[in-house]
Amino acid sequence: MEKNDIVIIGGGFAGASLAHKLSRLDSSLEITLIERNKLGGKPVSAFTFTDIVDNLGIRNSVKQYYNQIEITSTLGAKEIYAYDRDVFSLIDYKKACEELVGKSGCQVIFDEVKSIKAGKVSLGNEVIDAKIIVDASGRGYKFRKELKLDVPKIENHLYFKKLTHCNIPNPKSLHLIFGDIGTGGGWFYPINENECEAGVAERITKLAGNEKKDISNREKINLEQLLNYPAYSEMLEGSKSESEAMVYYPYEPVKHVVKGNVMFLGDTAGMVHPIFGMGIHYIDRIGTLCAEYCAKASHGNIALLREYQNAWDSMLKSDMNTWIWGMTYFDLNIKQINKIIEIRSNSDIDKMNMLSALRGHTGKNYEGDVLEVPLGLFLSLIKNVLKYKLKYKLKYRC
Ligand SMILES: Cc1cc2nc3c(=O)[nH]c(=O)nc-3n(C[C@H](O)[C@H](O)[C@H](O)COP(=O)(O)OP(=O)(O)OC[C@H]3O[C@@H](n4cnc5c(N)ncnc54)[C@H](O)[C@@H]3O)c2cc1C
Repeated sequence: MEKNDIVIIGGGFAGASLAHKLSRLDSSLEITLIERNKLGGKPVSAFTFTDIVDNLGIRNSVKQYYNQIEITSTLGAKEIYAYDRDVFSLIDYKKACEELVGKSGCQVIFDEVKSIKAGKVSLGNEVIDAKIIVDASGRGYKFRKELKLDVPKIENHLYFKKLTHCNIPNPKSLHLIFGDIGTGGGWFYPINENECEAGVAERITKLAGNEKKDISNREKINLEQLLNYPAYSEMLEGSKSESEAMVYYPYEPVKHVVKGNVMFLGDTAGMVHPIFGMGIHYIDRIGTLCAEYCAKASHGNIALLREYQNAWDSMLKSDMNTWIWGMTYFDLNIKQINKIIEIRSNSDIDKMNMLSALRGHTGKNYEGDVLEVPLGLFLSLIKNVLKYKLKYKLKYRC
């Protein structure tokens, strides 16, 4: 049997962009991507950064560009970050994945991987031999469990795929809301004057049986709250929800991203910003390193894959502080969040620093916020920072 250099499991953004990056690095690599369903088939609002879109060459998949972000609290405080270029993009997830796989020219098999034991990829009736396997299968964690590795925690997320009949004066401005809608706010991303993608963050780690029955009711209440939120009501009131879906994402990274000749990329490794739920830029950032080590190791030295673990560890180290500050926000009450937004809107925050914080790394905004907040709030922040710092120090040693 001919041995593939690299077998990728999953045709979501992680698998598709990796295939593209690998083929760009070394066009002689034998790459096979296996997808059990459709490429990029899950319902997701894919808001990301325009430099990523440009680097990957997927401008054809962009539904809307944004040059402004508006963050409000449900109590009314508001901060606006306006840029002189289109720094954010909303992409068509399915189209982007198809485009990336198409450009890679890799072999695509539509089938379900049943097992990856002993470094072999088993499909229903076929076993594929691979020098390197990349698990990019999303949030099922089937293969992490099979290899007895830790799995990330997941969060439920109520997501309203698309709203039509809206009245949005500036579709190049995107909106985040923090507060008591859902369990911590929501968002809406305009597609044009009449359409947008909107969602509510319902942070639940586990659904009890009776909650499952209740969920459609909760979806309805959350959507109504979002549409009737005073700052949005003129734009969204009376809009129609075209489709609704309950989706999940991981919100804690895993410790191990390599085992033997198997590497993990994307949601399967919890590579998602724990506050904003954005995974695409992590897939891009760490995926570039994954591709480099895969390409080098495929020429014989599998031990090089360990470098990927080191790269992941140092990325966690550099991002952890910002994440911890972000996690702390979730524990604050709405009055405290409102106060912080108020303070930030009146202070001179570096816009580019805010972009870094959204990405999850090296942002200094959060530290800046607390220097000006009242004592009670400051103490609450310190308590949470210590709690999360300790937790993550023990868990990830960073
Ligand atoms: C509601 C919601 C909103 C989000 N919003 C954003 C956002 O605005 N910006 C952002 O950057 N991120 C966002 N995210 C996160 C982002 O969508 C994910 O981090 C990213 O899509 C993960 O991509 P992936 O390729 O790892 O997984 P997936 O896209 O889930 O792809 C995994 C693929 O593997 C396939 N697969 C699974 N098991 C097998 C198997 N056994 N055999 C073969 N194939 C298999 C699946 O069919 C699937 O196609 C959001 C997530 C949710 C849930």
